[in-house]
Amino acid sequence: MTVESLLRDNIKGITAYSSARDEYKDASADMVFIDANENPFESEVNRYPDPQQTLVKKRLSEIKGVPENQILLGNGSDEVLDLIFRAFCEPNKDNVITLPPTYGMYSVLADLNAAEIIKVELNSNFQPKVNEILKIQNNKSKLLFLCSPNNPTANSFDASLVEQLIAKFRGIVVIDEAYIDFSTRQSWLSRLNEFPNLIVTQTLSKAYGLAGIRLGICFASEFIISVLNKIKPPYNVNQLTQTKALERLNDLTNVKDEVNTILKDRKKLFEALDDIGFIDEVYKSDANFILVRVDDANMRYKELISKGIVVRNRTNQPLCHNCLRFTVGTNTENKALIKALKELQ
Ligand SMILES: *Cc1c(COP(=O)(O)O)cnc(C)c1O
Repeated sequence: MTVESLLRDNIKGITAYSSARDEYKDASADMVFIDANENPFESEVNRYPDPQQTLVKKRLSEIKGVPENQILLGNGSDEVLDLIFRAFCEPNKDNVITLPPTYGMYSVLADLNAAEIIKVELNSNFQPKVNEILKIQNNKSKLLFLCSPNNPTANSFDASLVEQLIAKFRGIVVIDEAYIDFSTRQSWLSRLNEFPNLIVTQTLSKAYGLAGIRLGICFASEFIISVLNKIKPPYNVNQLTQTKALERLNDLTNVKDEVNTILKDRKKLFEALDDIGFIDEVYKSDANFILVRVDDANMRYKELISKGIVVRNRTNQPLCHNCLRFTVGTNTENKALIKALKELQ
């Protein structure tokens, strides 16, 4: 299996749109820019943004230890994941494998791209069933989504299981590490160069506190990144996003402080949840949220709403019967949650 042979035929030979800013790159030079039909009057945003987001990638490269030519940025992870579908999945022909309960966007994007979804539920410890996955794959299985730490179950997948899947799955393995900064586990980024079929996605939406700017990150081989680069919309990451992302990536002390606070508060929340009578189980968390099993999720969800607290009801997800998901909030928000839960006992 080569990664190139997994690409859709129409993608193999595609040429990218060449924008004005691609053809003359040095925007810092003292030149007259009349190549892109922009309005010449200066504001922060009268010029098209850098289509390659050079400065953001350079900083991310330093932080993550991955070369810039192995990084692609998108309008949130959602766009990055969509690009991966468009590169590899022939509509109405190919399939992808997901492991429910997991992040809902994989199946939304599969539907949008007319890819069949093969679902292999996690086992009762919320770990992948490796043998079943490898047995069910066929020559049309292009993508396998591993979300680790997983949303909504909050646990990480065992490294040995993930490694077997990357080694033996005959398509692309996408590891979604949206919550990696809250985890004690090592990122798969350190193993990227061992596996040509591995894609790791991360985001600035969670630990970095920038859900509003929409910046998703894709790490893969130089080859995969070059393909995704050709099919992305030229200006997919806007100027405001690039500026704000760079600002935050230059302020890592603050990010780390916030993550540490969230982790400390997660621990406090665990202790408090233990004392709530109608919570039957509090699952371990490697993320910034906690999954709990209650007596009646639909009823508790409504009761919490009536007390002004919005949680995520996951009761209709496989293996999540009567489960609610709580994001770790500020100290004040966590106290409000605990107070409300106590009042409901
Ligand atoms: C929140 C989340 C994301 C982030 O998506 P963005 O589009 O980058 O905001 C990605 N994957 C999972 C599993 C998530 O829970």
